[in-house]
Amino acid sequence: MQYKSLGQEEQVVSLPEGVFKGLADDGSLFMPVEIPRLQEDFLSALPELTLPEMAFSVLRPYVHENLDDTVLTKMVQETFSFPIPLVSVHDKINVLELFHGPTQAFKDVGARFLSRLMSHLHPVENDKMVVLTATSGDTGGAVAHGFHKVPGIEVVVLYPEGKISPYQENQMTTLGHNIHAIAIEGAFDDCQRLVKQAFNDRSLREQVSITSANSINLGRLLPQMVYYFQGVARSMQQNNGTAPVVCVPSGNFGNITAAIMANRMGLRVKRFVAATNANDVVPRFLESGDYDPRQTIVTLANAMDVGDPSNFPRMYALFQNNLEELKKLLSANVVTDDEIRETIKSVYNDFNYLLDPHSAAGYLGLKRELWGEEHGFFVSTAHPIKFIEIVEDVLPGVAQKLKQDFQANFDSAKTKESMGNSYNSLKEYLLQL
Ligand SMILES: *Cc1c(COP(=O)(O)O)cnc(C)c1O
Repeated sequence: MQYKSLGQEEQVVSLPEGVFKGLADDGSLFMPVEIPRLQEDFLSALPELTLPEMAFSVLRPYVHENLDDTVLTKMVQETFSFPIPLVSVHDKINVLELFHGPTQAFKDVGARFLSRLMSHLHPVENDKMVVLTATSGDTGGAVAHGFHKVPGIEVVVLYPEGKISPYQENQMTTLGHNIHAIAIEGAFDDCQRLVKQAFNDRSLREQVSITSANSINLGRLLPQMVYYFQGVARSMQQNNGTAPVVCVPSGNFGNITAAIMANRMGLRVKRFVAATNANDVVPRFLESGDYDPRQTIVTLANAMDVGDPSNFPRMYALFQNNLEELKKLLSANVVTDDEIRETIKSVYNDFNYLLDPHSAAGYLGLKRELWGEEHGFFVSTAHPIKFIEIVEDVLPGVAQKLKQDFQANFDSAKTKESMGNSYNSLKEYLLQL
């Protein structure tokens, strides 16, 4: 498979080039030159397959020029080593729980696959590779765990001191080995600025190979298709073979792009719903046809606080940038902070199911968009323990119990490092790794 950029220049690259570059030279995103159609035999056998077996067949067309089948088999076994169950919330609504990985968020899937892909495509015999990433919370933990002890790769994660939750900090600072989590004096923007400066520093890049692991990377996008096959297969089994409506709580729109790609490969889905928080650029676009990105608004579902979703051009390209075509398959629903709080509370009280703020948006978005006899599932993108402060606010007793169960994750020993926010300190640090 080759990958083509979405910009004017239509740069065509191989998988390794796409993975290590991240973005095309003109700053646009890479997409597969074609989305292959899976065999009917495979699709009808889905209920009997394990997640790694599904992953192997779904991902093989995208990687087989670069990975032997035995290598891909090992990679998908290591990536999909935790369960992704479809659970009933009530009659017509199920939830596909994506939070059973090491950092309790769906980003584990992408990070685990990307790390193994990079390690394989850049063998240890070559010079050492440094993955440099800035995080406002969720990505850092997933990347740190995904790359932990992966040979030949050092990971440097920059995060804003005091501005992420203790739980999130713990996930990055307790690993050691090849994982270097550095608290930067300042905000997330300072972390991003330092990372950009490093990528633009020629003299640094002549001495160290650095690459990024951010969410636009193909190596994170592709494996996110896989769990939709599991969700749809289970859902159809429970509903006399009828296809579900699938709702994805969305920020950068990477997860839902992967879902739509799975559908293009042949997976049966009735239609899709994107649930957003107050950052509603896509819902407004579907309504008015005007793509009008705005400044990011801070909400309770903060991993979806994105004013200008970076994966939107990928999703739109799947519809030849045609709004009418997009609207045939996708609707969107905006969920406010008050509605998130209310949903966490009522779904717990009525159905004994505890949602995190992102999944609460998913639940409500789906519920409002289901019509007539339709049934569906939403994806649960994080475990409520990651956003315990919000659960504490609306369901104090439940939160306390949950914290006891996860106590160990709050107070184990830390290997935290700190740095001011000057570029020179970062450069020195990278040079001595
Ligand atoms: C990253 C993230 C999202 C948003 O996913 P996108 O692919 O950026 O749309 C939603 N929920 C959680 C918990 C996340 O970490």
